[in-house]
Amino acid sequence: MKNTTVIIGAGISGLLVARELASRNARLVVLEKSRGVGGRMSTKRVGSAVFDQGAQFFTVRDEHLEARIACWERKGVVARWAGKENGEERWIARPSMTGLAKTLAQNLPIKLQSQVQAVRWHDCGCWEVDVAGGELVRGERLVLSSPVPQSLALLEASGVELPAEVRSALAAIDYHPCLALLVTLDGPSAVDDGGEKITTGPFRWVADNVRKGIAQNVPAAVTFHVNRADSEKYYGWEEEELFARLEPAMKPWLGDAKVVARKLHRWRYSEPRTTYPAPCVWLPKYRLGFCGDAFGGARVEGAAISGLALAREIVGDFATP
Ligand SMILES: Cc1cc2nc3c(=O)[nH]c(=O)nc-3n(C[C@H](O)[C@H](O)[C@H](O)COP(=O)(O)OP(=O)(O)OC[C@H]3O[C@@H](n4cnc5c(N)ncnc54)[C@H](O)[C@@H]3O)c2cc1C
Repeated sequence: MKNTTVIIGAGISGLLVARELASRNARLVVLEKSRGVGGRMSTKRVGSAVFDQGAQFFTVRDEHLEARIACWERKGVVARWAGKENGEERWIARPSMTGLAKTLAQNLPIKLQSQVQAVRWHDCGCWEVDVAGGELVRGERLVLSSPVPQSLALLEASGVELPAEVRSALAAIDYHPCLALLVTLDGPSAVDDGGEKITTGPFRWVADNVRKGIAQNVPAAVTFHVNRADSEKYYGWEEEELFARLEPAMKPWLGDAKVVARKLHRWRYSEPRTTYPAPCVWLPKYRLGFCGDAFGGARVEGAAISGLALAREIVGDFATP
């Protein structure tokens, strides 16, 4: 297929690139390794309980994004959530955080369970992308929206020589890991309606997904995020061992309820420790772009801004012979 843009990753940044290109009738394909879209705006079912296990809410400062949010609010895709974040409105997606990605993904050519294993650049101006399972995808432009170390690892064997200053700035981007502990309770939790930031002990965040309006068939479904230092420390621990160590610290938020089911999710790339000094990277020589929260800012909003910025670069490239 001529003049196709291949987008790796269906998180918020990759989906916004895809939406913008699709609105101009551009040819594209999105390759996503997971079974669903959303990336770190992820919702997980454990038994009959549902949890937001990655991003919990987002804030919006960018005026262009504000206009989109207002439109999504009218359509019921996002809603205001209880509490404020440093005086700013907290937004959540509906019915859960992954709902925004699902809406953005509608009618887009997305191939799920398609893990990209290698990419190759040919001097004729074409990218070849190897997908696990043997599929070969070709395109004239390539977008990498995965966390930067994963994107660089993919490029390593591709014969692409990035400009030295871009290469070294990208290579310097590393991410905090985050452990997410998901617990279902046999009674109501003692968590505030809007979730709670925690500054002491092993956790940095707790939210009850029943109070958030996501989980319905259980008395309480609580997401705990372990703080940065303890996520590093316990990252490689077995699930059983980890819960044995951390469950006692959950007590203040469990009320009189008992844990009846539990699940661990390890986020290797949770949030970038440092970000790139521009909202995206576009290299016209290779028609190669990078986007994501490592560019626009280490939150949902930053990832969205980055995807929109890269889409503008690519649209500009349509005019280039
Ligand atoms: C635990 C946690 C809590 C957070 N809390 C908040 C919060 O409260 N508020 C907030 O604003 N932000 C929060 N964030 C950050 C926010 O989730 C991210 O900034 C944002 O979702 C990043 O979007 P993205 O598109 O850049 O990347 P991602 O969402 O990571 O999307 C990248 C996609 O690429 C896919 N991919 C990777 N490699 C390949 C491959 N080889 N082939 C195919 N597909 C591939 C991945 O599966 C993924 O779907 C949190 C993140 C985590 C992990």
